[in-house]
Amino acid sequence: MTPMEQAGDGRQLLITASQVLRGPRGEQIRDGAVLVEAGTIVVVGPRRTVEQQAQPTAVHSDYPGCTVLPGLINCHVHLAFDGGPDLVSTVRETPDDALLDGMAKRARQLLYSGVTTVRDLGDRDGLAIHLRDRVNRGKEIGPRIVAAGPPITPPRGHCWFLGGEAEGEQQLRQRVQHNADMGADVIKVMASGGQITPNSPPMWQTQFTENDLKIVVDQASRLRLPVAAHAHGTHAIQAAVNAGVATIEHCTWLQDGGGGYDTQDAVARTMAERGIYACVAWPPDWQGFMARLGAERADMVVNRFQWMARVGIPLIPGTDAGLPRSGFTDFAEALKLYTHVGYTADQVIEMATTTSAQALGLNRVGQITAGHSADILIVEGDPTTNLDSLSQRQEILMRGIPTMK
Ligand SMILES: [Zn+2]
Repeated sequence: MTPMEQAGDGRQLLITASQVLRGPRGEQIRDGAVLVEAGTIVVVGPRRTVEQQAQPTAVHSDYPGCTVLPGLINCHVHLAFDGGPDLVSTVRETPDDALLDGMAKRARQLLYSGVTTVRDLGDRDGLAIHLRDRVNRGKEIGPRIVAAGPPITPPRGHCWFLGGEAEGEQQLRQRVQHNADMGADVIKVMASGGQITPNSPPMWQTQFTENDLKIVVDQASRLRLPVAAHAHGTHAIQAAVNAGVATIEHCTWLQDGGGGYDTQDAVARTMAERGIYACVAWPPDWQGFMARLGAERADMVVNRFQWMARVGIPLIPGTDAGLPRSGFTDFAEALKLYTHVGYTADQVIEMATTTSAQALGLNRVGQITAGHSADILIVEGDPTTNLDSLSQRQEILMRGIPTMK
């Protein structure tokens, strides 16, 4: 039995390492320690200070040359999608039990890539909500899941096959209520078209009016739920921002017709002022994605990211895992997109931990701080100088329990 495994018996767990990153940028403790009790972080600080507060019976695990940091947060995944070429038919035709098995497997892949919290932004029939509850009850090993249930979309709109079709005020309100009754943590609405649904509106096109989106946000806020809006087109982004959503997914700024980009300073400034987050949801193989766009368009994309950063739109990372060419295993690779466009490694770590937790409204994850759940990642080296270090995982704790085999 490893020291980590012994810690399940009610004793405190003392973790010491060359460095502890608390999450917020600059909060770095050299030769640091974290004390965990009953799944919760109780003390964080320099090794000596924390050691003095640990009970004599505490189980001690030392990680020389390693960094302790909050578990990472992937803000945009689809556990119900298997990434295959025919994922639409697969998700429609797979029986619930088999689909749930696949989702549990993919959730574990995310966990073992260092992701301790995921936001699932669209499943079929609320199966991600069901999986969330199984994980929370300890029936399944997996990351913390924030689940949307079936996304709201017009009849035969983007992802209609997930079961969230609605039009007109009454149906929109009922659909939000229905997802809330299923136990959704967030409401996802498809403000524009997308890519994977045959015979549905193109990506740039709006699917709902600003008034429709206001109805969705109003109903969700009555139920104390935030709204995440899928929006590729600039007009869809504008409508979602005016409606008061919490996050814009993709945020591609496509102009009408989809031929180019239409970056609107006024809309972007409103996002920055109101703290509306953008989750661009690029895959781990973002370099392949850029290559397929071609050099000219890839440059435009990089400029667009830099413009969003300059205006002050808060960015959160996601991968759209489950879609073709986006798997569940390489979150650290996906994060390198942000250093490519100009963020520093410590900004990216803050983005993938503390900022993401704030964006998702989670107040016990995303930081190594007393009172937070011990969702902890331990990696070799120093990820603030090289994000590759995030792939050198030594241990991943969920609620204080080690998960690596
Ligand atoms: Zn998505």
